[in-house]
Amino acid sequence: MAQENHQKSSSFAFLSTFKSTFINNPSKTSSTITQTQLTLLNRTDPEYEMVKNLFAITPKIHGIVKLKMQTKLENKHEKYKKFLVNYSVRKPNTVTYKMFHGTKRWPLCDLLMFNDQGVVIKKENENPSYCQNHCGLCGILQQGNRKKCSKSSKKMWFAQDANTSLNYCEYGTKTKVMFVIDCLTKTPPLNVFITGNEKATLSRVKTRAEF
Ligand SMILES: [Zn+2]
Repeated sequence: MAQENHQKSSSFAFLSTFKSTFINNPSKTSSTITQTQLTLLNRTDPEYEMVKNLFAITPKIHGIVKLKMQTKLENKHEKYKKFLVNYSVRKPNTVTYKMFHGTKRWPLCDLLMFNDQGVVIKKENENPSYCQNHCGLCGILQQGNRKKCSKSSKKMWFAQDANTSLNYCEYGTKTKVMFVIDCLTKTPPLNVFITGNEKATLSRVKTRAEF
């Protein structure tokens, strides 16, 4: 569906650069993803526009990257979504909320993909490498949101307003990295969604913007 179009329309795709491993399961038509796939969205992409519109005040956006997380994380999330839908007798889109999640990152992190001037620093066929530690960006990209990485008593925070998430981003840098996360809850969140349930969250998009 749309994903193929995104890959074609993107100015470049990171699929090949991440040495993603695909394990074909003959019993299923889809393949298993063991490493997050990143695809830079074009400004003309409808999904780019959708993410941009989530910001109450549009910042200077340097890049919006679509994420396809590991299959095991995606499956857990989908299973929990089905549970919530059945439990609360609702449709899937009424238990899913797009929320922001700010994070800190290593100043020279390869996964930033752009420098402070918004210029692409990683191009197709280059191999960015994940930081070993102290980088929230690389941590989330590799493992999803983890409650053990939270400093708030193993609770993870997500906000509807990007300005709230700014407080969790790297201090003192012009550009901030923020994720857009699908959060599952049967109760509509009032600005923030706080949870210790990892499968209730799934990263969909990584943004880099000047606030
Ligand atoms: Zn990093």
